[in-house]
Amino acid sequence: MTELLGHDSVETGDEQLKEASVDRFKKYTAVHGIYDGPIPAAIVYPASTAQVAAVLRFAEQNLVNVVPRTGRTATEGGLETVVEDSLVVDGSRMNAILSVDPVDMMATAQCGVRLQHLEDVLRAQGLTTGHSPQSKPLAQLGGLVATRSIGQFSTLYGGIEDLVVGLEAVFPGGQVTRIKNVPRRAAGPDIRHVVIGSEGALCFITEVTVKLFRYQPQNNRYFGFLVDDFASGIDALRELITAGYRPSVCRVYSPQDARQHFADFYQGRNVVVLVAEGPKGLADATADAIEDLFAARPHQRVDSKRIQDWFENLNWGQDKIDAEKADMLEHSRLGYTTEVSVDWSRASDLFDAVMSRIRGEFPRAADLTMLGAHSSHSYQTGTNLYFVYDYTINCSPREEIEVYHKPLNAIIVEEALRLGGSMVHHHGIGKYRTPWVRQEHGSAYYLLSTLKHAFDPQGVMNAGTIFPLQS
Ligand SMILES: Cc1cc2nc3c(=O)[nH]c(=O)nc-3n(C[C@H](O)[C@H](O)[C@H](O)COP(=O)(O)OP(=O)(O)OC[C@H]3O[C@@H](n4cnc5c(N)ncnc54)[C@H](O)[C@@H]3O)c2cc1C
Repeated sequence: MTELLGHDSVETGDEQLKEASVDRFKKYTAVHGIYDGPIPAAIVYPASTAQVAAVLRFAEQNLVNVVPRTGRTATEGGLETVVEDSLVVDGSRMNAILSVDPVDMMATAQCGVRLQHLEDVLRAQGLTTGHSPQSKPLAQLGGLVATRSIGQFSTLYGGIEDLVVGLEAVFPGGQVTRIKNVPRRAAGPDIRHVVIGSEGALCFITEVTVKLFRYQPQNNRYFGFLVDDFASGIDALRELITAGYRPSVCRVYSPQDARQHFADFYQGRNVVVLVAEGPKGLADATADAIEDLFAARPHQRVDSKRIQDWFENLNWGQDKIDAEKADMLEHSRLGYTTEVSVDWSRASDLFDAVMSRIRGEFPRAADLTMLGAHSSHSYQTGTNLYFVYDYTINCSPREEIEVYHKPLNAIIVEEALRLGGSMVHHHGIGKYRTPWVRQEHGSAYYLLSTLKHAFDPQGVMNAGTIFPLQS
């Protein structure tokens, strides 16, 4: 590797390699310094598409497993190195913003550009990508596209799949492919979707072009309402969305989840949060529709300033991640999440079923200090549910995943699939939801597995991610 990239671009330090063997799925063992899995052979930092191509050519010729990474905020094991002598290919040094075009409303950036940096540059010019995941300070464009990420303003702007115009990626063997930037085309299937959501298991994304919007926060209108039950909160969101309105933020929190965000004012009730955004006329029309909707429903109003303040402090940078690690070590406790999606008609059933199964079946239910959910991304046909759970850990660090996290995750995934929903709304399959990937896709799994065999015939791209290891 040093011959291909130079000494400064190859890392083989023990600590760095150990940390590169896991992602946040194993955060509890990692904070205790436990790294049981195969440790990668090296981390390499390519500086160009040509260098990525050289690395992928070498990997295929020598049957070396490649784990692509950028911002390292993955939560589902996508960065875990599960086969011996893997090569972690880190795109974070490919961090140039290549162009900002305020006429055609597109920006092009390399895979290692942090979304926060791109947003800062754009907002100074009165523009925005509209993409705002909570991990925005850390996540980079390559990973954001590879995981099919979604942001907090998705109801207006869409997920990353709605924002990517074109991209460049390198496939196994070093094949460079560029999908051009056009407003729309009917030239066969939409090949962007071979790459978006591929989680490093098909290719390495080197460059991304995203849409731009005007940044006009002066028009934002913030709303908060307390409602008595989760089902009526979901129903309010459904009514608003299916009537054709697109608030940028559209959320309902169960009381358990609301307590950790809105302790000062939630009063033990469900909290609905809405933001109207966009050109003034549109934002005002959306705000009027929100007022009309709640005028006809029992509710208690929350001061909009409290909602605005909460939003402005929602994102996670390295400081919050470090504080979380310290808390885990000091108190032997952990908070985790599982996000799924479902049609409107089954959203409340899913919430009830998960709550009741976890409380009734989970052997360590007594250790749960919080179990709740919110809906944070809505569509014409349905919504997502983001389950959150905190627990005190009464076992050794090594046992934590098996005793707590996996059984809780399994109940949520099983219930989503049973009710006809998807087992994963936006964090990706990683390595830990692969047991359900065939059930998720049914007869369409044929399409997915054929892509893997066609583009990665030697199986050198992020083994065990999306596709179970044994397949
Ligand atoms: C505190 C916190 C909040 C979060 N909030 C959100 C949220 O609001 N919305 C959301 O969607 N997600 C969220 N996530 C999950 C995570 O931030 C996203 O999945 C993000 O898109 C990952 O980007 P990254 O640059 O950190 O990628 P990484 O963690 O480096 O990698 C993620 C996956 O993508 C692959 N990958 C990375 N770079 C490339 C590349 N160049 N080419 C091909 N494959 C690549 C990796 O192999 C891995 O499978 C959150 C995570 C944390 C820790």
